[in-house]
Amino acid sequence: MKETVLPYRAYSEYLKEKYGEKVYKLPVNLPVTCPNRDGKAGTGGCTFCGEIGTGFESLSNRLSPKEQLQQNMEYIRKRYKANKFIAYFQNYSNTYLDVELFEAYLREAILEDIVELCISTRPDCISREHLLVLDRIRKETSVEITIELGLQTVNYHTLKKINRGHTLGEFINGVLEIKKFGFEICTHLILNLPWDDRDDVIENAKILSALEISSIKLHALYLMEDTAMGKMYQNKEFEMIGLQEYQERVITFLQYLSPDIVVQRLIGRAPEENALFVNWNTSWWKIRDEIHGIMEQRNTRQGDKFNYLHGKVFR
Ligand code: SF4
Repeated sequence: MKETVLPYRAYSEYLKEKYGEKVYKLPVNLPVTCPNRDGKAGTGGCTFCGEIGTGFESLSNRLSPKEQLQQNMEYIRKRYKANKFIAYFQNYSNTYLDVELFEAYLREAILEDIVELCISTRPDCISREHLLVLDRIRKETSVEITIELGLQTVNYHTLKKINRGHTLGEFINGVLEIKKFGFEICTHLILNLPWDDRDDVIENAKILSALEISSIKLHALYLMEDTAMGKMYQNKEFEMIGLQEYQERVITFLQYLSPDIVVQRLIGRAPEENALFVNWNTSWWKIRDEIHGIMEQRNTRQGDKFNYLHGKVFR
């Protein structure tokens, strides 16, 4: 692994190593839903899910994937002199689709200078048929494939409390199925779920390291007014940990994380409109920079405590 100035294996550096230059991720918004909303896996969705969620920076899904990508590419190309792009199917569960339609949407995104397709979905929406489509596209076009899986926590008690609609078992199964095809896997985690403590944070790092996940994205809870968890927060049914504790959890997580795993983000970005809680009213980059500063001061980095796999007792 190449040593970077940051105390972890940063995604931007990884992309530069892989593609030889800076690569830009462009969101693609498909008219899809989620099986945890429509009754297939559950109803009501995850208790924190505020519908617009991750899609707040996306274009309308009334535009085709091709039109969305072309518009975004034109803008980013001019602004940053960019040459290579990742088509990022970001909202909801992008494999929760009929296989033919899934393939048609993906093929629309194979444009010149698109080097990778990144598909965000749930662990219980990984079928062999969808994976075979991705495999065929990769072989025909040479685009790389990454699948992003929401997990949020490995604590199955907490997963139940947030009405996630799947447990750790389905996540592990999804990962093993994807690995048969050799696609990269990114996993999303929320490090301040109210029922999780630092032991859960460590277990998150250990399980993702044991599974040899490719990359991770860390988030803090984002609570909107009209969500079940937002109402619990307003009724003071749980206490939110402080920003300092969140930062400590991120550092602990990174220390236990395999140094091979790429770190895409330490905290998410979200709109403030109609929000009850967003990142302790602190900008994401300030929180990130402070974590960098603390780690530098303590002379610690990702993987410092990654010593627990492969027969630890014999060492
Ligand atoms: S799986 Fe994602 S889209 Fe579905 S309810 Fe949960 S957070 Fe929302």
